[in-house]
Amino acid sequence: MANLAPYAIDSHNSRGRRYREAPPVGRSEFQRDRDRIIHSTAFRRLEYKTQVFVNHEGDLFRTRLTHSLEVAQIARSIARSLALNEDLVEAIALAHDLGHTPFGHAGQDALHHCMKPYGGFEHNLQSLRVVDLLEQRYAAFDGLNLSFETREGILKHCSVKNARLLGDVGERFVKRRRASLEAQLANLADEIAYNNHDVDDGLRSGLLSMEQLGQVGIFADHMKQVLREYPKIENRRLVHETVRRMISTLVVDLTRQTSKNIKAHDPQSITAIHSAPALVAFSPDMNRQQQLLKQFLRINLYQHHQVARMTNKARRIVTDLFDAFAAEPRLLPPQYRDLAQASATRTVADYIAGMTDRYAIREHKRLFAVDEI
Ligand code: MG
Repeated sequence: MANLAPYAIDSHNSRGRRYREAPPVGRSEFQRDRDRIIHSTAFRRLEYKTQVFVNHEGDLFRTRLTHSLEVAQIARSIARSLALNEDLVEAIALAHDLGHTPFGHAGQDALHHCMKPYGGFEHNLQSLRVVDLLEQRYAAFDGLNLSFETREGILKHCSVKNARLLGDVGERFVKRRRASLEAQLANLADEIAYNNHDVDDGLRSGLLSMEQLGQVGIFADHMKQVLREYPKIENRRLVHETVRRMISTLVVDLTRQTSKNIKAHDPQSITAIHSAPALVAFSPDMNRQQQLLKQFLRINLYQHHQVARMTNKARRIVTDLFDAFAAEPRLLPPQYRDLAQASATRTVADYIAGMTDRYAIREHKRLFAVDEI
């Protein structure tokens, strides 16, 4: 890759894959990771999984697939400006949500609750489990056999207890080392993407209003700017113009502040990044604004009574499915039944986590409605 900074991850120095493979021809190791992620089953399922809204609520809302594409786009732009490894950042961004359950946070919370006595459920760990184990498409190994750096980047956070069970990829949590700049960047690109698209989806759904958002500094500033330039602009365009300017402001701020941090810290190698503070960061002012927006979304969108109704249903569906399968593993599809002999509850969690929103709803009907088969 051209123009890589000394503190960027170079694919030639990768710590490699769990199973040895011949080097790729005509593409880098991280490009190969990205390609494997895009061709995986879990990646295609992201199309029918949602974060805030349930998949059938509307065709225009973000799904985890379009969310992941937006994260990758934002992360790649910034990576290029900072001379970080764009391929690695793209692979991490595209894979970061692979372990998510159906029904977004509600599904994850419900599954975690069910799994509490058996080690819990955490979507980050699950994303790693998907790429390390659950994808079954290669003759020589389970999982996608991704590079160490992509796997490490996918594992955004992890308890020390769990990290010890993960071997090399959990090492940095045990030794309290900082993630690569590429991993740090994918993480903040995720924030930029969801804060902004949740504003857009929130307005589109009618759960949020322009008046409410007018109270949030970062939104209000950008909206005023658009209205000054285009006083007669129609509402939908006003939303798009405002959101796109917010994304751009956040991207520019993150790039500038990170450049500044890198200059001040002057890391000469990857090793220097491990012991440095988090260098990928917003400026203090932008960070405050981001936090206010996040807080606004939590109170007004994620806790909106209409969202809460769906969240409640989602929780019941996931809990019912878990209880039924855990009590009677014979109800699992055959390919899961064999795995269930080793650990029934973990296999049930894998099966449920892999479901799309609509599949979970259908499976719930098949199990519980007597007139369904
Ligand atoms: Mg995400």
